[in-house]
Amino acid sequence: MKIAVATKNQGKLKEFTELASKTEYEFIHIPEDIGELPPETGSTFYENALIKAEFVSKKLGIPALGDDSGLEVDALDGKPGIYSARYSESGTDEGNCLKLLQDMEPYKVNNRSARFRCCLVGYFEGRIVKSYGSLEGDIATEFKGSKGFGYDPIFIIKNGFHLAELNKKEKNEISHRSEAFKLLLKEIHKLAS
Ligand code: IMP
Repeated sequence: MKIAVATKNQGKLKEFTELASKTEYEFIHIPEDIGELPPETGSTFYENALIKAEFVSKKLGIPALGDDSGLEVDALDGKPGIYSARYSESGTDEGNCLKLLQDMEPYKVNNRSARFRCCLVGYFEGRIVKSYGSLEGDIATEFKGSKGFGYDPIFIIKNGFHLAELNKKEKNEISHRSEAFKLLLKEIHKLAS
């Protein structure tokens, strides 16, 4: 079965490609000419993941997988959350990280806990399956590492490494996205059987 991955985020796509390589499904990238994905007008990760999955599935006529994810910082009452990709004015990974480091200035030592969250939605001819994953850590005070994407360079995991120091395989062993992906596969199996 072919399943389209409803994202244009290259960082996410690389991780999905690695995750998908161990499944019996063929996860495919969406074609360039599909145009812009619809705006994320939902108020939850689930609603936004569903918007993307439904749009791509209907457009291509095959099942689709939607991902919505983001970073929740406790000291900032869960921000940036669903607005993680658009947190800074530039909306670039570097701009978003710099803004977050600035907003965390008052919390130099304490209270830097945060988590990545991911919601995945599978859209199969109108039938919907969903799953969630999370990864706990702390917001760093400086950038470290050159791998990954988004907030990875300023996110410290339990063993003290910054997420951007991990390669794809290592990140996929612990990440919010891989946790959600494994759970979603189980839901897809149930649908298919
Ligand atoms: P969206 O799901 O396309 O709305 O964007 C999610 C945003 O959350 C990304 O652009 C990143 O800024 C951030 N994000 C989500 N997952 C990760 C991750 O695994 N590492 C770093 N940043 C992430």
